[in-house]
Amino acid sequence: MTTWTVGSIDVTRVDDPDFELILPSDDATVAVLQRSPWLAPHFVTGDWALNIGSSCTVVRTPDAVVLVDPFLAFDDADRLGPRLQALRDAGVEADDVDIVVNTHVDGIGVNVLRDGSPTFPNARYLVPRAELEAIRAGTHGESRADSLLALQDDGIVEATEGDETLLDGVRLEDAPGHNPGMHVVWVEDAERAAVIVGHLFLHPAQIANPSIENGDLDPVALEATRRSLLRRCTEVGALVVGPLFAPPGAGQVRPDGDAWRFDA
Ligand SMILES: [Zn+2]
Repeated sequence: MTTWTVGSIDVTRVDDPDFELILPSDDATVAVLQRSPWLAPHFVTGDWALNIGSSCTVVRTPDAVVLVDPFLAFDDADRLGPRLQALRDAGVEADDVDIVVNTHVDGIGVNVLRDGSPTFPNARYLVPRAELEAIRAGTHGESRADSLLALQDDGIVEATEGDETLLDGVRLEDAPGHNPGMHVVWVEDAERAAVIVGHLFLHPAQIANPSIENGDLDPVALEATRRSLLRRCTEVGALVVGPLFAPPGAGQVRPDGDAWRFDA
């Protein structure tokens, strides 16, 4: 667990307990990765395999508790208990959560309990409208998301457009390319900023190589979104928080030739 402070707002990464995923790299990939030696030691192994992380990000303002992407991806019903315990260990009881933000839908993580009821009973749940529409139309490809539609019918899940201010200092921004819909979360206070990037970047190697895609919906839009975001992050010195990055999972981006480097 690591907490970063953005003015009066705390941003805490809660790691997925006992999660470990290492993806081997072929020779061509290793050659690309080695152009970014800063990827070691956090984000690659000694032989340049990719270290992947899994986490939930907790944003605490003076008034509210917001969960962003509650362990999205790597769905496994047996992990529900340990994941909720990890949140408790970080001081977050299920009843305390005011808003659950899903940057997009990639699995449903701990949004719901085994019976499909909301895990966080007092929370508003936010999901991009384009994601909900694609799930409802049967074109999304995420078969486990039907419970979100039931919660939308019950008024618990709300559709977002990607231009909402949720609270003082917390807002959504549209970030197209990865999925039918995706919104990153900006946290801004006292002239400091952080941005939680969802799956806009699956690994910090994509900060150095913004054109790398992994089966994303629209690779051209994805690269444009990445470059626009990284440019602005360097301008305002924003902390970049990547839920799928290996720990510590956040850092500053700096210009590096035609792209950027990431200092964890
Ligand atoms: Zn995703």
